[in-house]
Amino acid sequence: MKVLVTGGAGYIGSITSAELLAAGHEVIVLDNLYQGHRAAVPPEATFVEADLADRGALARLFAEHPGIDGIMHFASYTLVGESMEKPFLYLRDNVVNAANLLEAAAANGVERFILSSTANLFDDPERMPIAEDERIVPGSPYGESKAMIERLLHWMERVHGMRYTALRYFNACGDTPGRGEDHDPETHLIPLVLQVALGQRDHISIFGDDYPTRDGTCVRDYVHVLDLAQAHILALGALDERGSSRYNIGNGEGYTVLEVIETARKVTGHPIPSIVGPRRPGDPATLIASSDALRRDLGWAPRHPKLEDIMASAWAWHQSHPHGYADSE
Ligand code: UDP
Repeated sequence: MKVLVTGGAGYIGSITSAELLAAGHEVIVLDNLYQGHRAAVPPEATFVEADLADRGALARLFAEHPGIDGIMHFASYTLVGESMEKPFLYLRDNVVNAANLLEAAAANGVERFILSSTANLFDDPERMPIAEDERIVPGSPYGESKAMIERLLHWMERVHGMRYTALRYFNACGDTPGRGEDHDPETHLIPLVLQVALGQRDHISIFGDDYPTRDGTCVRDYVHVLDLAQAHILALGALDERGSSRYNIGNGEGYTVLEVIETARKVTGHPIPSIVGPRRPGDPATLIASSDALRRDLGWAPRHPKLEDIMASAWAWHQSHPHGYADSE
């Protein structure tokens, strides 16, 4: 298929683009390089530097690249903490950018859409692990923006017959030898912990140790980015047959922040000092996915479910790219 990947210069988008190409698809990457890296875009992909806020640029992209079969929409502001400080980057920009993309896609007859959605839809789950029919209670403006985009997709299907899959990621992590996680500023736990191991930071701050969990720190379900990429490719392939759906993606196992730090100590051999600080607003205590539906419907089976292996893949990338993509640019 000919696939438009928005945010294809970012962490998950670039790795999924590479996996799409390896599976024989044609890839067009759209990215504004605000957070993404040109060096992350696979050389076999067509690259279009444009902003989703620019509707003229979107019209040109679809005119210059007719026959797009499907869209994977990664381009987004993605930080829970930032969204609590700057809600309209999320409640306006994320939503309006998705609306611009959907309007142009519908006008150009695109029939398939895969959305990067989030576990932050589930701030107050009634059951753990969290299944797709859990009630949606966004935990932050970030989660709310994804809930709103899932609603846009509902109406795209009703109005235009566009089929979609919303993939609610739990905690994406892990790297590949050629591509990895490089955010500026970095806010995610695993890369930050590995920066401590590299000697780039003195310590890791633990955001709260008074949560109702086994050691007081937050529990998350860490899933390898390659397994996420696989879910996207399976979802795209199944859309025609299965129609629209929503899936949660995680390994079904939760680790506390302290356990993640301990795993990093084991993998890196570094003591990784830590300091307990206050909670980060917007963080729920526990998020663990039930991916039963994804396994059952799409035959998804994570190839890298062990946290230690995920950590080792991330450690390999951070050691070979201590300054991220600046080392390959
Ligand atoms: N976290 C932490 N210290 C940090 C960064 C994150 O204690 O410097 C915690 C955070 O509160 C959450 C978990 O680690 O419980 C994972 O956070 P991350 O930002 O990696 O992903 P998120 O859960 O926000 O998607």
